[in-house]
Amino acid sequence: MRIPLFGGSRRCIGLLGAVLLCVSARAQNAPVKLEVDATDAARNILHARLAIPVSPGPVTLLYPKWIPGEHGPTGPITDLVGLKMSAGGRPISWLRDPDDMFAFHLEVPTGVHTLDVALDFLLPPNSGQFSSGASATAQLVDINWNQVLLYPEGAKPRQLQYAVSLRLPPGWKFGTALPPAGPDTAGIQFAPVSLETLVDSPLIAGAYFRRIDLSPDSQPPHSLDIVADSAAALEMKPEDIRHFEHLITETGALFGARHYRGYTFLLTLSDHVAHFGLEHHESSDNREDEKYLIDDDLRTLGAFLLCHEMVHSWNGKYRRPAGLATPDFQQPMRGELLWVYEGLTDYLGIVLSTRSGLWTNANFREYLALEAASLDRQQGRSWRPLSAPTDAAQLLYMARPEGESWRRGTDFYEEGDLIWLEADVIIRRQSQGRKSLDDFCKQFYGGQSGPPQVVPYGLEDVVNALNEILPYDWRGFFQKRVYTTTERAPLGGIEGAGWRLTYTNAIPARLKAREAATKYTDMSWSLGITIKEDGYISDVLPGSPADKAGIGTAMKLVAVNSRRWTPEILREAVKAAQIDTAPIQLLVENEDYFKTCDVDYHEGEKYPQLERDPAKPDVLSQILTPLTPEPP
Ligand SMILES: [Zn+2]
Repeated sequence: MRIPLFGGSRRCIGLLGAVLLCVSARAQNAPVKLEVDATDAARNILHARLAIPVSPGPVTLLYPKWIPGEHGPTGPITDLVGLKMSAGGRPISWLRDPDDMFAFHLEVPTGVHTLDVALDFLLPPNSGQFSSGASATAQLVDINWNQVLLYPEGAKPRQLQYAVSLRLPPGWKFGTALPPAGPDTAGIQFAPVSLETLVDSPLIAGAYFRRIDLSPDSQPPHSLDIVADSAAALEMKPEDIRHFEHLITETGALFGARHYRGYTFLLTLSDHVAHFGLEHHESSDNREDEKYLIDDDLRTLGAFLLCHEMVHSWNGKYRRPAGLATPDFQQPMRGELLWVYEGLTDYLGIVLSTRSGLWTNANFREYLALEAASLDRQQGRSWRPLSAPTDAAQLLYMARPEGESWRRGTDFYEEGDLIWLEADVIIRRQSQGRKSLDDFCKQFYGGQSGPPQVVPYGLEDVVNALNEILPYDWRGFFQKRVYTTTERAPLGGIEGAGWRLTYTNAIPARLKAREAATKYTDMSWSLGITIKEDGYISDVLPGSPADKAGIGTAMKLVAVNSRRWTPEILREAVKAAQIDTAPIQLLVENEDYFKTCDVDYHEGEKYPQLERDPAKPDVLSQILTPLTPEPP
């Protein structure tokens, strides 16, 4: 999973599921029928009907709670409405479990073998996060099947079959990794798949749809399926299509095997849906601004998103930390290895963005400098090692931005970039360039190509695999980087790769574009504050000049040196204070009261950059060199 702008032992998953109770053979074998009516999507309602094979007696139906890839109990149960159960047209009453809000109990009468369930799902218009966030507009809809279904307690999602049919508004087209039922079926029907595969295979549909074949003349197939709020948003430069084609050959060269029958990038382009990426085995649900493909700044800002989500097909879906490879959607997940699941994915995602040509090397360095400098200034690291946010991921994904520097956010993504870059540099340096992290990727995530499967792992497996590539104290390395508090961000990878994190007074192009897109002003590295367009101070770095001057989060900046604030006026004042010895006066509003804070800061604007260290070889450029030629 990724937000676009901001920034056990090796055993078969079947063994993990073996403790589950079995439902009757009938319930296991006959597919559940699921009919989804999305013709009201523009009104933010999905209608669904299920026919669930059952046996007479007590039955508990479950609504998926822990959503794979979201690493938290994010199933949107509040928006499940209109739930009615019946058999042969006769209503059956149900009772919600008093402790588990995701469980519904009922008694199936004698002689009944099919339970009919009707439900509606209220698509949130502008609230919620990730797949529970806004998912429909007048022109498109993103459907995550877990939101419109129930499943019987005791059934194994890997075995329980669902046969899905779908109704869409007239003229809408769709994209999904779900296989069609066959050429003879009327309407939109999909071949029966396991509940696990169904939840892993979302669908996008819309009036404006485009499919681009990214690996013509080769198997398995890869496509980019796009829905957008306008026809204009579907336009794509030929060179960008080439870069995505290059991404396909680069992932093949990096991992050496593919664990899918075909891969579909689902891309939703709208300013009115939640923006994020969510990984699946054979597809990914990527949601960006309407102009993502046609605005150079927006595309460059979020170029890594599709790369990141595709890497997850290997790192996260195929190989998965044992604590995240749960047997159903109700058992809590454990995120202790998210610094591998998300951290290494993030690193490979930005490396592949560059190797595929979506980014230049300079784009990569700008991104890394901003992330490294943010992590280096972040104070939460002094009380909480990286492993702590990883363990508490399900809380931190939902945490508000205020106080993030002191709390720590889900920075196992960005700090993962730094840690895995350092691991890559260590392997390259110690092996005199003969080995790299690419070799680890091939060994750990490669193997035999074929349909999706899950192979869980623990920290020991990661350490052992790295040792096979390069014998080194990897356990000690991760102990220091992940499990110990540190005052500074791990910058050893940048330095070992021949670069240095330094500061300049020129605002980097990436930050400028990010500020324009997110309507924030980022003065983290000078005053120590980030400010929204309306003056709202979303965070204050502990120990920064703004903090010392008494400014707090959620205050509102009103004026700078007695003049109404704008980002330009604030930046001018910071610049002028390099010569002027008087403090910068910031008038802030705190609820109903105002106060002037004297910020005694005279070092000018500061923005991070990576500067070449001529004393060392440029290993970073070697890492970013493509493994395959660009497609013609
Ligand atoms: Zn991710």
